[in-house]
Amino acid sequence: MAVPQNKITKSRRNMRRSHDALVAGNPAECPNCGELKRPHHVCAACGHYDDREVVALVEDVDLDEDAA
Ligand SMILES: [Zn+2]
Repeated sequence: MAVPQNKITKSRRNMRRSHDALVAGNPAECPNCGELKRPHHVCAACGHYDDREVVALVEDVDLDEDAA
């Protein structure tokens, strides 16, 4: 098994990890409901895309035991 020949110092390790931070997305405002959504994606809040409803929202799903 390959073994590192030299110890990676905290400094070098941290310098390598300086590029690892996650960056926030680029949220866009939904023109229908005003909620922030991912660009070029259907709005998760209202199901609209390009000013028309493409995904119907499900009303409250009743999950009681008798239904199953
Ligand atoms: Zn929306």
